[in-house]
Amino acid sequence: MTDAHSSDWSYIPELANVDVNRFAIAVAGLDGQVHVAGDAARPFSIQSVSKVFTLTLALGKLGDTMWSRVGREPSGNAFNSIVQLEQEKGRPRNPFINAGAITVADLILAGHEPREAIGEIVRFVRFLADDDTIRIDERVAHSELATGDRNASLAHFMRSFGRLDNPVDHVLGVYFHHCALAVTCRQLAVAGQYLAAGGVSPKTGARVISAERARRINAVMLTCGHYDGSGEFAYRVGLPGKSGVGGAILAVAPGKASIAVWSPGLDPVGNSKLGAEALEMLTHRTGWSVFGA
Ligand code: GLN
Repeated sequence: MTDAHSSDWSYIPELANVDVNRFAIAVAGLDGQVHVAGDAARPFSIQSVSKVFTLTLALGKLGDTMWSRVGREPSGNAFNSIVQLEQEKGRPRNPFINAGAITVADLILAGHEPREAIGEIVRFVRFLADDDTIRIDERVAHSELATGDRNASLAHFMRSFGRLDNPVDHVLGVYFHHCALAVTCRQLAVAGQYLAAGGVSPKTGARVISAERARRINAVMLTCGHYDGSGEFAYRVGLPGKSGVGGAILAVAPGKASIAVWSPGLDPVGNSKLGAEALEMLTHRTGWSVFGA
């Protein structure tokens, strides 16, 4: 760990208003059944879980050439670390740390207006969740824009290495807005189902991506989805997963289910404490860990 962590996660002021005692879980099985418990109908801020969907979208647009812009190795650093970025000349380690997701936002933007790229991402998440009510929480987006000096630093730093094609404010506009998508646990679990079902969305029958690409996104989720807590999450839960500082985790049990948990109390790395605990109990009881029962 080479960068300072803060266990004060109030750097996005709008998120600090959420009650840390809340909890929700939704398990979306491939048979179309969704089982929920807790506050599963309450919208929360998706934050970095959105990076799974922007990665999927960017891979769809650019194919594997996307990997020339961003790596797929765990960083072992905080999600907003700048240290490694300097050593590696502005090429982010993976698409799930902030620098990597900002690069992915740059690729989706591709010269278009930010609102067009944001609209495209919202439409994609609605399509995955089969739910047109999903929206961006503008207050969260603006709260983050107002306090996003660290992300702005990462973006300027990458641009100084010639690694961003679009103006920094455009790229950050896209990034902050997709992090500010508001979803419920039920919507998130359904949205992630294509990753558990070989690239096909079981609810609509639509093919989102190839089975091979779904498998590879799962691999990056397993190794990088929880930042410098990815090893611990693999050890305890044993599923590909992606966390966000809103307190959500999307976990994928390939061939079985997509699981969304939400509880805003975070550990020092920025991952949901109760969310990881619930997933650990779930894989323990179901034998769903990808490493064996
Ligand atoms: N929007 C957040 C940020 O950029 C996302 C971080 C996260 O969820 N880990 O800081």
